[in-house]
Amino acid sequence: MSRYGLLIDYDFCIGCHVCEVACKQKHRRPAEEWGIQVMEVSPEISGGKLYYFPFPTDHCNLCGKRIAKGLQPACVKNCQAGVMRFGKIVELVEDMQKKPRTVLWVPH
Ligand code: SF4
Ligand code: SF4
Repeated sequence: MSRYGLLIDYDFCIGCHVCEVACKQKHRRPAEEWGIQVMEVSPEISGGKLYYFPFPTDHCNLCGKRIAKGLQPACVKNCQAGVMRFGKIVELVEDMQKKPRTVLWVPH
């Protein structure tokens, strides 16, 4: 059986937090609950450049209900920078090899 995940190309993340808001709204999450959170990686840690990194949490279920309807996950659909892609892990891994600064996220 195929497993699914999110391929995160954080090179293009501008830290706008729209993915966080989209996830909260679609899942009607309470204020203290996050499905994804955007982290700031300071130049001191990254080696010179300020990066933003959208990090899914254990509350993320990959938008199972939306996927069942043929829709994209809310965070993927609303990110104007195209940072995240939903798909089969085997296919996402292939794409990872073509692009540096990508992270594959798979829910448990
Ligand atoms: S992943 Fe997309 S929506 Fe989320 S902060 Fe980055 S650019 Fe914005
Ligand atoms: S895939 Fe769905 S549940 Fe997971 S972070 Fe994105 S919007 Fe939230």
